[in-house]
Amino acid sequence: MQYLKVNLPAFPSSKAADSLVKKQLVLSKTEQIYQWPIPNSQFPIPKAPFPIPNSQSLELVIGLPDRCHRRRPDWVKVGVNRRVVRSPELEQTILSAFARTCPRDRYPVCFVHLQISPSEIDWNRHPAKVEIYLHNPSFWQEQVRAAIARVLELNEDVLPQPSIPDRVGQLLKASEQKGAYLASSSTSRNDGDQEVKNHKIGLMELRAIAQVHNTYIVAEHPSGMWLVEQHIAHERVLYEQLCNAWLLTSLEKPVILSQLSALQIENLSRLGLEVETFGEQLWAAREVPLLLADRDDCADALFELSKVADLQAAQVATACRSAIRNGTPLSLDEMQNLLNEWQQTRNPRTCPHGRPIYFALEESTLARIFRRSWVIGKSHGI
Ligand SMILES: [Zn+2]
Repeated sequence: MQYLKVNLPAFPSSKAADSLVKKQLVLSKTEQIYQWPIPNSQFPIPKAPFPIPNSQSLELVIGLPDRCHRRRPDWVKVGVNRRVVRSPELEQTILSAFARTCPRDRYPVCFVHLQISPSEIDWNRHPAKVEIYLHNPSFWQEQVRAAIARVLELNEDVLPQPSIPDRVGQLLKASEQKGAYLASSSTSRNDGDQEVKNHKIGLMELRAIAQVHNTYIVAEHPSGMWLVEQHIAHERVLYEQLCNAWLLTSLEKPVILSQLSALQIENLSRLGLEVETFGEQLWAAREVPLLLADRDDCADALFELSKVADLQAAQVATACRSAIRNGTPLSLDEMQNLLNEWQQTRNPRTCPHGRPIYFALEESTLARIFRRSWVIGKSHGI
């Protein structure tokens, strides 16, 4: 489980702002108490008369998708101003934020609680007020998307164990299996520059130590040791690169494919891979994804791509095929480079099929396993 709280300035409707301004002016006789939008904030700040700092907030509790997901979307919940409501727009945002991090046909565990100025809510659309409509849904969708993206990253400010509000802490404790995971945490801070800076602290210290069975990278982390499966870590790196840019390259010598159906030819062309007739039941592809160009099994790879219906599935298939195989020996430098690249991905916890990429053994867990609290003395290496 992961907890995050983000405080946001409120942007009251102009009518509410007017009356507020009048009231405040009477009270304070100065306009100085009003703050204008914070410069360089990461949040897109719509034009509004008087933002009131920290009067709105977003709280998020998610199950980490590498270990916590459901068969149905029954634990995707939205609360607004302390009431659980239906919000199709926000629920959809949550589901799409977990695309390619949850396993196939599984749904995330995610609770979002928004503290919103009442003036931002349209209360009159649903008689029982069960379903909620926001005046500015895209603003909140963006906040939710950004908050989920942040808790899924592995940066320094998310991993350590800071204080968690009591009730959320109890919830996290109750739901965590003993020793099963390490990363329950929270970040709570004010908006503005500080937040952006904290968020970009850079890589965690994860140092490649060794390779086990030519499959797992053993890495030292300040809080313990991690095992990282090399194939899926690399697959995650390549998948995100392909999502950023689906690069094609032309070949001098075309790749020849056979036994393609009309649908397969159409699928390929949807991916930008046009093939031309090359003879009886033969087709030539002169453009291929850059990652596949130098591979001996390029024809097999294209045949596989001809069977997928959308670009995202093609990106997953291409990343999987191009990623370092398990069983491949790696040097320390190669392992370290892979760890560095992997840590910078947007969703490092799972591969695009939803499999967990790393296993962490916390120092506290190790201490418990080795009963380090039993004996204190030099002879026992303490
Ligand atoms: Zn794979």
